[in-house]
Amino acid sequence: MTTGGAPALKGVALAPGIGRGRAFVLGRAVAWSHAGLEPAHDTDVEIERFAAACDRAAAALAALRLAMGGAAGAVSEILQTQEVLVHDHVFRELVSERVRVRGLAAEAALGEVIAELGGAFSDLKDPYIRERAADLRDVGQRVYVELTGGREELDLPAGSILVASELDPSFVASLDPARVAGVVTESGAGASHAAILLRSLGIAAVGAIPDADEVVPDGSTVLLDGYAGLVFVEPGPAVLDAYERLEADLRTRDALLEAEVSRPAVTLDGTAIRLEANLGKLADTAAALHWNADGVGLYRTEFAFAIRDRFPSEDEQTAILEGVAERLAPRPVVFRLLDIGAEKTLPYFPLATVANPALNLRGTRLLLAHPEVLATQLRAILRASASYRLSALLPMVGGLEEVRAVERLLAELKEELASRGVAFDDRLPLGAMIEVPSAALLAADLARELDFLSLGTNDLVQYLLAADREDPAMSPYYRALHPAVLRVIHGVVTAVGSAGKPLSICGEMAGTPLYTELLLGLGLRTFSVAPRQLGAIRHEIRRIDLREATALAERVLGFGTRDQIRALLESRQERRAEAMP
Ligand code: PEP
Ligand code: MG
Repeated sequence: MTTGGAPALKGVALAPGIGRGRAFVLGRAVAWSHAGLEPAHDTDVEIERFAAACDRAAAALAALRLAMGGAAGAVSEILQTQEVLVHDHVFRELVSERVRVRGLAAEAALGEVIAELGGAFSDLKDPYIRERAADLRDVGQRVYVELTGGREELDLPAGSILVASELDPSFVASLDPARVAGVVTESGAGASHAAILLRSLGIAAVGAIPDADEVVPDGSTVLLDGYAGLVFVEPGPAVLDAYERLEADLRTRDALLEAEVSRPAVTLDGTAIRLEANLGKLADTAAALHWNADGVGLYRTEFAFAIRDRFPSEDEQTAILEGVAERLAPRPVVFRLLDIGAEKTLPYFPLATVANPALNLRGTRLLLAHPEVLATQLRAILRASASYRLSALLPMVGGLEEVRAVERLLAELKEELASRGVAFDDRLPLGAMIEVPSAALLAADLARELDFLSLGTNDLVQYLLAADREDPAMSPYYRALHPAVLRVIHGVVTAVGSAGKPLSICGEMAGTPLYTELLLGLGLRTFSVAPRQLGAIRHEIRRIDLREATALAERVLGFGTRDQIRALLESRQERRAEAMP
């Protein structure tokens, strides 16, 4: 759309929706808000406050390192490095000097020092020193949290369009959709965790806008189109008019989907499809119920951890799980174990800075390196399973070894709980994500070992095609419809089907209406999708004939390029749309 005002900035659509509001630009290097802080009235008191915050951060790091015992390895080293940094005289003096000389609040002085030192470190060639930049940012974050008496909080005016160079998932998890009307970022890819969360929060977002925090000035009026990936700064009347019409059309479409909400997800030939929801927060349960989900196929537990400032205890975790299960009962809920690692981090659980985070310890593998964290979560799921229909799902499994290691621990925990007279479901189903190529190749073996499997195509695509899901520059290679992806999915469906075990698909592919017919044709019968996509997927399913879908899949499996496959799917979707009453 080009009508009126300044030309649109073209980026990548991260989360659908039209957002209007005033730009609120986050600091480039530090995603904390210290703008608008009162200057320090008494600089000595302010310097003492800063020193005390450093001491508390150092004590917390030491406690964390001790709590991890010998198991932590590389992580323990990182914690030690961070302890050294937080005690570092030069670092403390740089911050104190800014308070003393310029009368800055400690948060503002700290933000400046971290940005300057971090920038200087990360420009250096030596990878060891570059890694220290990440440590320094972590240390800065820890001290900041201590200074502000808890997690950092943004004082966002309602109706803000948040503009940032990048957003990490734990930060997105803490955003309040009532205040954030939209998000514009410089980085960002559709399959990134931050984008998945933004979609689940219903916040329209556009990524891949170069120099976002400069081209969208703080305080400017912004209209963003999260469908087409466009951002209008100070939009003219013609743009506003055009978007009012578009929003009216979208309301009509929503009404159509709403009208089908209680109709069964059944194909034209009468095959019932299970339609489940992917959730990450207690609040998502409302949307899952509204859109009539058959259950929860994927509950990403990491977000409940990300919005806290320490690991929740076993009792707290049990209460969180029970709260979710209770709202959805009697529908079953699949809780996925913590999938931390790569870009998903917890503020209080620093991970080793490594060259290839996505290929480092993550999900089940990371949990196995921290048995206490794993055991606490498994105990909580077991306890909650006494009263609700629950399953446990293992993320990032490469083969049988990881699964068996978890099974051994689970058996020990069951014995322990039983000996203490604590109730649990002895047959708690255990499943694994198929999101690593080796797991896809071993799908038959995993299916024999486990109770169910779930295709996590977001990571499967990334690892199969060697294309980072978080990096917009790799999006020409990150292709869900790549023939290799489809052939692997087909292989998994066949293998799991032969073992007679349930298989679902919970990656973002499952919630993409353009792919529904093909996925049904490939043999998938359980879809777990973001709650807001439930209506659109139900609508598709009800218009598809399985015989045609199977013929389509057979044809597509012979195609050699993604573009050929996509063109065919688009032409079929258009035909279905034209045939609609
Ligand atoms: C996936 O990888 O497809 C998946 C559902 O998990 P996540 O997006 O949380 O990595
Ligand atoms: Mg995944």
